[in-house]
Amino acid sequence: MAKLKTWVSIPKNSDFSIYNLPFGIFSLKGDRPRAGIAIGEQIVDLSVLANLGLLEVNASYFKNSALNDFISLGKKITNKVRLDVQRLLTIENSPLKIHSAAFIFQKDVKMHLPIHVGDYTDFYSSIEHATNVGKMFRDPENALLPNWRHIPIGYHGRASSIVISGTNIHRPMGQVKTNDMKVPVFKASGNLDFELEMGFIVGKGTNLGERISTKNAAEHIFGLVLFNDWSARDIQKWEYVPLGPFLGKSFASSMSPWIVTLEALAPFKVQGPLQKPEVLSYLQYEGENNYDIKLEVSMSSQSSGDTVISTSNFKFMYWNMMQQLAHHTVNGCNVNVGDVMASGTISGKDESSFGSLLEISWGGKKPFKLKDGSERTFIEDNDTVTMRGFAEKEGKRVGFGEVSGTILPSK
Ligand code: MN
Repeated sequence: MAKLKTWVSIPKNSDFSIYNLPFGIFSLKGDRPRAGIAIGEQIVDLSVLANLGLLEVNASYFKNSALNDFISLGKKITNKVRLDVQRLLTIENSPLKIHSAAFIFQKDVKMHLPIHVGDYTDFYSSIEHATNVGKMFRDPENALLPNWRHIPIGYHGRASSIVISGTNIHRPMGQVKTNDMKVPVFKASGNLDFELEMGFIVGKGTNLGERISTKNAAEHIFGLVLFNDWSARDIQKWEYVPLGPFLGKSFASSMSPWIVTLEALAPFKVQGPLQKPEVLSYLQYEGENNYDIKLEVSMSSQSSGDTVISTSNFKFMYWNMMQQLAHHTVNGCNVNVGDVMASGTISGKDESSFGSLLEISWGGKKPFKLKDGSERTFIEDNDTVTMRGFAEKEGKRVGFGEVSGTILPSK
């Protein structure tokens, strides 16, 4: 990475450095949503730049309430927009220096879902998470099911309930049956949980019948976000046999507002874990396809500040995004621009890196404390869960900001 210097003032340790330049959708009060790029504490208004003739894309693409049409222009164009903005923010004689209307402070805007989500798939690709869940729900000796090392396991989730960071979520109601009950009851979930995940946004669609290879998969990935797949464990436990997750998951998933492009993350590629046994040929891949992204989960109650309860890393994933996309399309299933594919809970080996409360409290058996001294096993009403993530190398930081959500009482 060549060293870049911007004339915009950026706080130290900002996620939104000159190396990042993620895309998002924002609005000022009383104004319509439009597209921007984050830089430090500000946003570059892309429609203003396009109107000034500084970008090779018509301003109308940036005046939409979602990035889908812009992303559909293809990487050649979207990458050029990002690099053009980077150049405009670094050159000494930049025309932007006299156009203050091109800059808006993030604190003054409302962020929106950056894309219209067509379809949403959730994978289950962390071997540590799958092993922990298997130990608790099934057999401690044979925690992983026989298919796990052969297939990137996933399920089709619900796109309609994906919400932007900052959206409050009401505790879901549902059917629950514990082992000591003869019949199920209808109640508010008592085991409400989060799942620390990352999601990627499909940037190039396919036609029905087409397959994406692991080699070409990167062309189809626009960028990544932080993703909290809220989970009602008690509802999930009763309903998931035999077809998998349903209402225990579909009440809400939260997404961070800024899409960090795959290109911005390229310097942080690392080798993934060794896959044994060898996977089928359509799942084999070359090179580094994992990403070293540091992740953190914190929780706060109404009376406590943030308590960090987990520190994990996206690089732990057993199955990488290229394999997930190759697998998703191997049967000819088509994907569309704006589809979201989430990683599955990202846990590491260490207890401090577990990506869900199910694991942190080991099924509710091991309470932990928040800063105000109160104990938790699962999420209580008015608790807030916040996830943060960033990659950093040679002092260059590319981060995601945060995805946060507060749980309100049931409706
Ligand atoms: Mn999940």
